[in-house]
Amino acid sequence: MRFISSDNLKPGMVLAMDLVLYNKYNFKTLLLREGLELNNAYIKKICSNSISGVYIKNEEASILEKRIISEEFEADVLTKIKDIYYNYKLKNYVFDKRMLLQVSDLADYLIEETILTKALLYRVLEYNNKEDYLFQHGINVAILSISLGNSLELSPHMLHELTMAALLHDIGMLHVSSEILYQHDSLTDEELKIIREHPVNAVKALISFVSSDVLMGIACHHEHIDGSGYPYGLSGEQIHLFAKILAICDVYQDNLEKWEPSQVIQYLSEGKNVKFDADITEEFLKNIIVYPIDHYVILNNGKTAIVIKNNPDDCLRPVIQIINHDGSLGEEVDLLNIKNNHIGIVGKGHNFEYIVSACLCGENTRYDGKVFVSNKIKKLVDEGKAIMVCPEVLGGLKVPRLPCEIKNGRVVNITSDDKTEYFVDGAIKTYEIAKKYGIKKAILKEKSPSCGCKYVYDGTFTKTLIHGQGITTRLLQLKDIEVISDEEF
Ligand code: SF4
Repeated sequence: MRFISSDNLKPGMVLAMDLVLYNKYNFKTLLLREGLELNNAYIKKICSNSISGVYIKNEEASILEKRIISEEFEADVLTKIKDIYYNYKLKNYVFDKRMLLQVSDLADYLIEETILTKALLYRVLEYNNKEDYLFQHGINVAILSISLGNSLELSPHMLHELTMAALLHDIGMLHVSSEILYQHDSLTDEELKIIREHPVNAVKALISFVSSDVLMGIACHHEHIDGSGYPYGLSGEQIHLFAKILAICDVYQDNLEKWEPSQVIQYLSEGKNVKFDADITEEFLKNIIVYPIDHYVILNNGKTAIVIKNNPDDCLRPVIQIINHDGSLGEEVDLLNIKNNHIGIVGKGHNFEYIVSACLCGENTRYDGKVFVSNKIKKLVDEGKAIMVCPEVLGGLKVPRLPCEIKNGRVVNITSDDKTEYFVDGAIKTYEIAKKYGIKKAILKEKSPSCGCKYVYDGTFTKTLIHGQGITTRLLQLKDIEVISDEEF
């Protein structure tokens, strides 16, 4: 579900919520029902009622739902691989049938999730606990290997064997002391030698339990096509298919931790036919998803955008949609289009830290139609650090409008019409925006019946201030969002 401003509505979009209007007696009337597909006439109807925007169902909702990877799944697979690795270490580096069964079950589970639900195809899970790196790496290399093996049309049996090899490819690293494994300075020749023994140590432990294909995959995943790899210095066709697949997935995942995605892609491209098998690398680069759909990205102009489509010709230049200063979706930009060459992705996620009152940034949202700018607050918006909201406009009120004040717990205008529902609706929509972007701070306009932080007018329309908060401020505070007044900021 996304909030789309009325002037960005397009035929074919589907309403995610009932669209209701309030008359002057505060009675609700249903304008349009949830699930309705918009056409030009409906869009005209929305605009003619001065509605700022509506919630639209994501057009690719069903596909996207399948792309959402649950935290439970991430935690579950991590626990499973940790259990296997810890047991192996605890039993003095002796592998056994129980561990083999666990690896086989985990392989089946990952294959099912990756291939059948398409949730994980060519993706990596974004874990961020450095201490768990070895386990996270094993899971991610397995997911990438399943994706690549599937593209290469491996049989179900071979895909299972490849996944086993991926899950176990670094088990030999457990033989290396954590001082060497996690040290950040450059390694001595002796330390490098110890690390380079990890494929052989794994093979020694697994030799009686897994197939020769799995063993060859593990043993040779650091061999290079030109013979410059280790431990045996094999080259070209001497290297097993599994090892060629693992080498690409291993290097991609490992370097993604240290480098920018563009550097990793360049490294793989330049390594074709030198370190990596050229055809398999091309297949990988054709499919890899660096920026998954529905994820936020930060652009070189400071703006935030959401990824809406991947470009098969260039995994680093997807089609994106800019997030406007009010949190709504704006212009669609195909980064592969030559006219957009100046726009680049510089990071994942977004920079939004604050919700700010729109009327503090020169937006014409005030009840009296006057425009005011706080340069300090507007700077946050210009730098992409804040989203502007006007709860009253979001709630459906027009500009200009009669002044409102809070009286006996209700919000009334100067002619005593009760406007509480509009204010509550605006507060909820403001909170939804904060929640959507994970924003935990707000800078709001003091004294307003929506945005007031310490003071509001007393309901007598005599400019008398009392201690209190506006409706939006109260809701945000209730939801643990820190609200600072513009006067304090
Ligand atoms: Fe809108 Fe809040 Fe400004 Fe009032 S104080 S105009 S509700 S942003």
